[in-house]
Amino acid sequence: MFNLVIFGPPGAGKGTQSAKIIEKYNLAHISTGDMFRMHISQDTALGKKVKELLAEGILVPDSITISMLEEEVDANPDVSGFIFDGFPRTVAQAESLDTFLASKDESINLVLQLDVDQEEIRHRIEERRKVSGRADDDATKLIRRIDEYFEKTVHVLPYYEKHNKLVKIKGVGEIEDIFTNISKEIDKHI
Ligand code: AMP
Repeated sequence: MFNLVIFGPPGAGKGTQSAKIIEKYNLAHISTGDMFRMHISQDTALGKKVKELLAEGILVPDSITISMLEEEVDANPDVSGFIFDGFPRTVAQAESLDTFLASKDESINLVLQLDVDQEEIRHRIEERRKVSGRADDDATKLIRRIDEYFEKTVHVLPYYEKHNKLVKIKGVGEIEDIFTNISKEIDKHI
């Protein structure tokens, strides 16, 4: 199996690049944000629990997020690998993912960090807000989500750096050029 984490602040292009990676490398996509939004739109028990948190741009507690993710991995036993998008967002999530994968004799092979500065992020999300209708793309919620990223999620990077898994990719420029750089890195590790 080839397991990849795609990492970056909201608006870095994780969704766009993930779609291209999936198409080329045939990986199963796990986006915890998409999963939460699906639960909310279907009004499940989990959806009810996390609705407010998502609307405010606050991270869902690790225990809830981790068990949802593990269930999704277990529900896809025959895939050639996963791309984890929006997970892990805390060091506790990163550690538990490693433990969980190790129990299946699997591991994270590569972590790609899409590097985009804060100004560019704010501009992109403002543009996306106009078309997405995402409640958490509005200005105040956006500040919260960016803060969550820079306060909690960035700490995941040294964790993967320590394990020699982190590769930084410039996330600004043409989508195709960014994808070419991503492909080169994946090809080295696959
Ligand atoms: P995203 O679509 O990845 O930007 O996620 C949207 C929202 O879902 C986040 O602002 C959090 O409220 C929640 N969320 C998604 N993934 C996680 C995660 N790994 N840990 C905690 N909360 C998450």
